[in-house]
Amino acid sequence: MSAPQPLPTLEITALEKRFGDTQVLRSIDLKVANGELVFVIGPSGSGKSTMLRCCNRLEEPTSGAIHVNGKPMLGITRRDLDRMRLQVGMVFQGFFLYPHLSVLKNVTLAQRKALKRPAAEADARALEMLDKVGLKHKASAMPGELSGGQQQRVAIARALALDPKVMLFDEPTSALDPELVGSVLKVMRDLREGGMTMIVVSHEMQFAREAADRVVFMDGGVIVEQGTPSEIFGNPRSERLRAFLSRVS
Ligand code: ADP
Ligand code: MG
Repeated sequence: MSAPQPLPTLEITALEKRFGDTQVLRSIDLKVANGELVFVIGPSGSGKSTMLRCCNRLEEPTSGAIHVNGKPMLGITRRDLDRMRLQVGMVFQGFFLYPHLSVLKNVTLAQRKALKRPAAEADARALEMLDKVGLKHKASAMPGELSGGQQQRVAIARALALDPKVMLFDEPTSALDPELVGSVLKVMRDLREGGMTMIVVSHEMQFAREAADRVVFMDGGVIVEQGTPSEIFGNPRSERLRAFLSRVS
């Protein structure tokens, strides 16, 4: 008998999403193991963002199941959902920091409200996470005083401060000037080395080659192909993936 498989940190099963008559995701199955970095590529409109948003129920799946460490995200009470959502950290293209709050307050706010952490503990955790993204010295700055890359790193620190089990990144560097992209990718690389479980939607193919354990190619709301970076970039099997890669590289 084979050894029991360890529980995936994130498991998406038969996920379907329709907006009215438009089917945006169909039969999505994806397991992300503890500490794995899964990189998602695909043309605009292929359903990448919708898939990530369903994991956190920012979009309501039409059917299917999502589990985090074996616990369901669907069919649970509002209270359980609030708790489960904390385990799925999200970072978007836009950073959505509160402009009128200091960097430190941006990172402590959700800890105070959602986790009910005492102020001193939230501050300590925030400073620890700001240190991790190289911005401890900016704790008392206002978001408007930071570059886009720094703001995105604050957004990452804010998500990390909630102790998520998995981090989902939706085009985290797409809004940044080219010279600021590297600092954000470095933080993501450090996170991976620290054992964080991650799904990254991005166009940074070089990052995928270096840092991804697995690359998933989506097109038309389905996972068309997946494999290691060298399989996907070096030996694409489907015509759709070959066509996509020839357009982006
Ligand atoms: P990607 O992130 O790969 O570019 P999206 O997940 O954003 O793709 O979108 C997938 C498809 O779903 C697109 O055709 C988009 O127009 C559609 N879509 C996304 N959000 C909505 C919505 N709220 N209502 C209707 N259609 C939507
Ligand atoms: Mg998108």
